[in-house]
Amino acid sequence: MRPDTPADHITEAERLLRTAAQYPEDREPLLLRAAAHLEVAGDPARATPLYDELLAADAPENPQLIRALKAANLWEYGHEAEARAIIAGVRATPPADAAAWEVLAETLEAHDELEESEATFTTAAEALVAAGDEEVPYPAQSLLAGRHRVRRLLALEHDGWDRLADRLHTAPVSLDELHDPKRLWALGSSDPAELQAEIERLRSELGSFRVALSRPFPVAVLLWSEAELDELLAAYPELESEYPTHRAHLTDLEASLRELAAAGTPNLGVVRGTVPSYEAFAASEATAPSNAALLPQYATTLAARGHATPWPPLRTAPCWCGSQRPYADCHGTQRF
Ligand SMILES: [Zn+2]
Ligand SMILES: [Zn+2]
Repeated sequence: MRPDTPADHITEAERLLRTAAQYPEDREPLLLRAAAHLEVAGDPARATPLYDELLAADAPENPQLIRALKAANLWEYGHEAEARAIIAGVRATPPADAAAWEVLAETLEAHDELEESEATFTTAAEALVAAGDEEVPYPAQSLLAGRHRVRRLLALEHDGWDRLADRLHTAPVSLDELHDPKRLWALGSSDPAELQAEIERLRSELGSFRVALSRPFPVAVLLWSEAELDELLAAYPELESEYPTHRAHLTDLEASLRELAAAGTPNLGVVRGTVPSYEAFAASEATAPSNAALLPQYATTLAARGHATPWPPLRTAPCWCGSQRPYADCHGTQRF
């Protein structure tokens, strides 16, 4: 279930903070996610101390991302000068990963600093996407799409990266259409209600796209290795109806992931289950492991703890299933 109302988001943040107490080694992804829920709930001031706590930790995994998120958070409730100082600091020590860049550029965009935002996206693209790359990992793809959006708002001509962004975008509504500020006025409709509905549709499309890009919320499916699955079913035969065979389990996962991707779900991933960690999770939820309803919750919690491997892998990278074969020759073949 996805949280909807501000109260749902607060409840979810509190649940994540409890999970962080239980798994201190996964504190960083859990606190970042809790902070994002507090921000979505309209309570950014309550999220700020979580960023400070992570930055004060011994060795944060991704300090640049935490700083970028803190800048976005501070600017959101009026601390513009402090936010700008943090952004300048992060840009001066260029982040190696796309997410931090994206948060910086989108923060500038959200506050109508479009030229600055475009410059940030461009520096990031120069750092992370090699010229002539045809296959680009998802985080860098969303950088290129964000850059495309800001350049459309600035009415700039397409360059090579914009054309690459267009080619990489496979959703039914093209980027040019999605990012066209003039589209609203070119619909030719004289019915104000129809026009209003179209504006709402575009806003929500753009809105969910942006939230998905700047917030690391993976949607993950649960993978069992053959040995773990045998052990799981031996201990809890009630779960056999979920998993007829290991081979079918793998085929199902690839099919679900493709379905989610086709429906426009970004940030997809795979998490690996183990019997001991599943049993510990069931105990913490005060439920029996044989309860199949627990499986998706277990997957969601593993993803929130930062254990998701992004999907799809590059075509030449090892398949997510653990076969060691390239994805394109394993579950990434078109037919299955
Ligand atoms: Zn385009
Ligand atoms: Zn495979």
